[in-house]
Amino acid sequence: MKTDAAAFRLEDYRAPAFTIDTVDLNFVLAPKATRVTAKLAIRPNTDEAAEGKLELIGDETVLKGLKLDGASVPADQYSATPDLLTLHRVPNAPFTLEIETEVDADANTKLMGLYRSNGTYCTQCEAEGFRRITYFLDRPDVLAVYTTRIEAAKLDAPILLANGNPVESGDIPGTGRHFAVWHDPFPKPSYLFAMVAGDLGVITASFRTMSGRDVELRIYCEHGKEARCAYAMDALKRSMKWDEDVFGLEYDLDIFVIVAVSDFNMGAMENKGLNIFNDKYVLADPDTATDADYANVEGVIAHEYFHNWTGNRITCRDWFQLCLKEGLTVFRDQEFSSDMRSRAVKRIADVRTLQARQFPEDGGPLAHPVRPEIYHEISNFYTPTVYEKGAEVVRMLKTILGPDDFRKGMDLYFERHDGEAATVEDFLASFADAAGVDLAQFHLWYSQAGTPQIVAKGEYDADARTYRLSLTQSVPPTPGQTLKRPMHTPIRFGLMGPNGEDLGYETVSGGRVENDVIHLTEASQTLTFEGVGARPVPSLLRGFSAPVRLAIDISTADLLFQVRADNDAFNRWQAAQTLAMRNLIAGTAAQAKGSAPSVEPALIEALGDVLDNDLLEPAFRAQVLQLPSEADIARELRHDVDPDAIAAARRALRLAIATGLQDRLQPRYAALSEDVGTYSPDAGSAGRRALRNTVLDLMVATRSQDAVAQALRHFETANNMTDRLAAVGILSQAALPERRAVLKAFHDRYADDALVLDKWLMLEATVPSSETLERVQSLLRHPSYSANNPNRIRALVGSFAGANQTQFNRVDGAGYEFLADFALDLDKRNPQTTSRLLVSFRSWRALEPIRRGHAEAALRRIARADNLSPDTRDIVTRTLA
Ligand code: ZN
Repeated sequence: MKTDAAAFRLEDYRAPAFTIDTVDLNFVLAPKATRVTAKLAIRPNTDEAAEGKLELIGDETVLKGLKLDGASVPADQYSATPDLLTLHRVPNAPFTLEIETEVDADANTKLMGLYRSNGTYCTQCEAEGFRRITYFLDRPDVLAVYTTRIEAAKLDAPILLANGNPVESGDIPGTGRHFAVWHDPFPKPSYLFAMVAGDLGVITASFRTMSGRDVELRIYCEHGKEARCAYAMDALKRSMKWDEDVFGLEYDLDIFVIVAVSDFNMGAMENKGLNIFNDKYVLADPDTATDADYANVEGVIAHEYFHNWTGNRITCRDWFQLCLKEGLTVFRDQEFSSDMRSRAVKRIADVRTLQARQFPEDGGPLAHPVRPEIYHEISNFYTPTVYEKGAEVVRMLKTILGPDDFRKGMDLYFERHDGEAATVEDFLASFADAAGVDLAQFHLWYSQAGTPQIVAKGEYDADARTYRLSLTQSVPPTPGQTLKRPMHTPIRFGLMGPNGEDLGYETVSGGRVENDVIHLTEASQTLTFEGVGARPVPSLLRGFSAPVRLAIDISTADLLFQVRADNDAFNRWQAAQTLAMRNLIAGTAAQAKGSAPSVEPALIEALGDVLDNDLLEPAFRAQVLQLPSEADIARELRHDVDPDAIAAARRALRLAIATGLQDRLQPRYAALSEDVGTYSPDAGSAGRRALRNTVLDLMVATRSQDAVAQALRHFETANNMTDRLAAVGILSQAALPERRAVLKAFHDRYADDALVLDKWLMLEATVPSSETLERVQSLLRHPSYSANNPNRIRALVGSFAGANQTQFNRVDGAGYEFLADFALDLDKRNPQTTSRLLVSFRSWRALEPIRRGHAEAALRRIARADNLSPDTRDIVTRTLA
């Protein structure tokens, strides 16, 4: 095993010396010794091929046979290690190589390459898993046409699936075995290869494409769970239709297959025609899935489906270009969900995730550009920066170009690069050419890491009827990048007049302002608006038009006005968050002195008005009433973070709001309870549940007997998982005597449903109590836990480290020590899941000195261990740097 993995650099890219046109695979499946034969049609691709040396990559790969153009290769003409197969002398002309390997799928706990999940054989090849199946030019710029034959015992694996269309199948007489052959006519990189074999249940449907072709749709799952796939199937059909309507993109094979498996390192995988999913993003029914689960299923189904064009038909030249498929596809799935649900609420939710996950990454030791320029271990770059900030960059492109030119650019991108492995430059050139604009400065969004900070200052001259808005931007230094240049940043805005309507103006100078968008391009710019009839309240960054931090000198009164009157829903929400955050920051400082700041009664009043404003969507009202999280506050503080003080300040504000709104909460809860009928996962119903559960949460904050009794009734009478889980969450988060009984009741009700037990593990792990660490440790031995299943691990240990601020960050350092012990053990079996858990240490330098010391000690202890996986070594090294 490689311990000191070499660095890969974007600037070192070279086209492959050889390429592969066709791949014929034959899998003879057996649990501990699957035989794989790969017949590769190879040809020289660059001058380098003339040297005659061919290197194919492996990873723990076991060679069993090797033939070149049908003849066995003599031992002195090749060498094979688990990592590399070298042929010393190959023809400088097309030839065929036949490689036989043996794979122990049962022993594969890394869940990369060929493995078994609950007895089902499945594969995961992105980014570098195909090399664990056979030696290969395992890089995304080698595009080949694959034909896959699978052979297995009929009883073990009645279902045999691979990419493409089915071409042949049958029994192998007298052996109890059978086979199937699949052919994928679209050239693809190896990371999109997939194969599945097992005994699975299925639901089927069909979709007629815009050109009138009928596509067969199938979703496979564990027997007995078929009914829980219905919503995923519905989401798939809507995704297929949406991509036709919005981007003119049609599906291209005769069949589209999804398989849900229970052991999966990530969310899901877009293998051509055969998507493999973590079952938590497929299965949903009212009794076991929350509204958030339904929304996630819809979003992930769409995401993987959309990859068929953005990722598969046009793939990435190399892994540095990962955002080319991921950022773009996240943007597409966000747009899809916005069209299916409420655009404003979806935007708030997406920005919340961006700020919670990407901002801390961008502001800490793991910061990297949307398109990284160096990596040691690519699987550590499936990050919020590549995905979520990558989506924001595409969104800004659309804002800058406008919807029509944006669509023209997308069309040109597909026209030019279909069937190719492309780069970020290819992508931007399509937009620059389609719209006739220069995107050279915009390109910096791909190469400069760090969240830009924008400082805004406004000044109104009533006599001159002039409003001056000065804007500065700066990008903070990040690892490997000290000097930054100003970026092209679109700031959507309005100048709010006294009655809430946006004010007009006659002229504007000092920069480009078009269609309510300021194009900030300089480090500092002053815009002068002439003919402004009244003092405006500036509403900047509407819809969060750029992934930046905005600091604006704005009074409490003006923010309150925005909460009530901004015609941009996002900024109404943002104004409420800003007001709450101001109080929480002051409150955190005050906690140290044992005092607490008073809460502006006008804030409570404004929140109450949002609560009762029936003109606003319930889901939006719920978002406004949810305070910034403890992690949000920590991120805002940046230095000397004391999670206990933060939690206390947040509790105090929540109580003040709950007390202030006491008279309005119970009636609102009662009103919302009237239309609780049979469950429907649609966005409107989900929004009403969200508001009702947010109200209940505030009611319980007062800890009144009535409120607690109400929450218990809520739990007992719920007819769906959303309400049931909300009640358990509320009761278990509060230090109430009811906590244990409710958690136990929830567990017992779902004792044999793994996905629901994940929710229970998460609830247990996030209890803000000094007993939680011990509880988490004992749950590692609970029968409902499973030491090798990534979903269980993330639910228990991931939630503890990632979502329990006070207990992971215990002042005695025991939380950190626990995570270090856990990681050192898990790393031997599943490096990818381990390194992802360790990301919880990313903000350790922002902690107050005592915790910081404990966190550093735990990280150093991991770093000292021998035989760390490359994944974990990379994360720990960068986190400590
Ligand atoms: Zn993706």
